[in-house]
Amino acid sequence: MRIILMGPPGVGKGTQAVTLESHLNVPHVSTGDIFRALLRTEDPIGIEVRKYLDHGLLVPDELTNQVVTTRFREQDVHKGFIFDGYPRNVFQAESFDKFLKEHNWTIDAVVNIAAPDEDIIKRLSGRRVCPTCGKTYHLESNKPKVDTLCDVDQTPLIQREDDKPETIKKRLAIYHDQTKPLIEYYSKQGLVITIDGTGTIEKTHDLTIKALGEIK
Ligand SMILES: [Zn+2]
Repeated sequence: MRIILMGPPGVGKGTQAVTLESHLNVPHVSTGDIFRALLRTEDPIGIEVRKYLDHGLLVPDELTNQVVTTRFREQDVHKGFIFDGYPRNVFQAESFDKFLKEHNWTIDAVVNIAAPDEDIIKRLSGRRVCPTCGKTYHLESNKPKVDTLCDVDQTPLIQREDDKPETIKKRLAIYHDQTKPLIEYYSKQGLVITIDGTGTIEKTHDLTIKALGEIK
């Protein structure tokens, strides 16, 4: 199966990708991993990418598309994949479609794990971390034993900048801006499956498997 996984930050997309990978027996491919692997080599595409990263610049879409296709030199993705973090916009999606078409491959589904912004803000803003040992907590689902002190070393817990409601709202706004046209693009191809991501990890996984089973 060839799947593209989408979902806002904080919806648990990474966790779902891992469970889906073992369930469907196809590799979970994240663009972050492809970039890191490529940068370890002397591949000309990697050298080109490094020029941008060294200057703190965003890698252009054209180059990102090339980077992604390098992953297809490895056989494991020929039987299927779960793509995560790509395509990020319509231009990348069109280019990826073209690449797939050249190889007579098609996407089976675009799995869109969705949850209302308020849910995500509530989930993420409850996270706390111990600045001493790095242990993480959640004020609702994984509370420290005493007040807001670390169980291990009693250090007062802190909230990471990334977990503050204002930061989460900004990230969500960017996500929606980028994703809306992409969802429309894949909806026109009849590929989008929206999964309710508000429940537990297991529940979301079950819903995903059930929905994928129906398209087979
Ligand atoms: Zn601690």
